[in-house]
Amino acid sequence: MNLLRSCKKAAELITLAQDEPLSTLDKLRLKLHFSICGNCRNVEQQIAQIGLLMRSPLEGEDASPGNDAAP
Ligand SMILES: [Zn+2]
Repeated sequence: MNLLRSCKKAAELITLAQDEPLSTLDKLRLKLHFSICGNCRNVEQQIAQIGLLMRSPLEGEDASPGNDAAP
């Protein structure tokens, strides 16, 4: 199995996970990477918190994603 060593790749998956659910394999790769890299784990937590802040809990209906972070 190929451990996800690259932090850059991990960051890509973390960002991707905010827009769409990751595949089981990608989730596993991230988990493995987090187990060896606390830095990326912190990044993931920070991004997840930002994502929660961006998504207002009051707007429950028809929340269309406004901005695309596509390269
Ligand atoms: Zn890392």
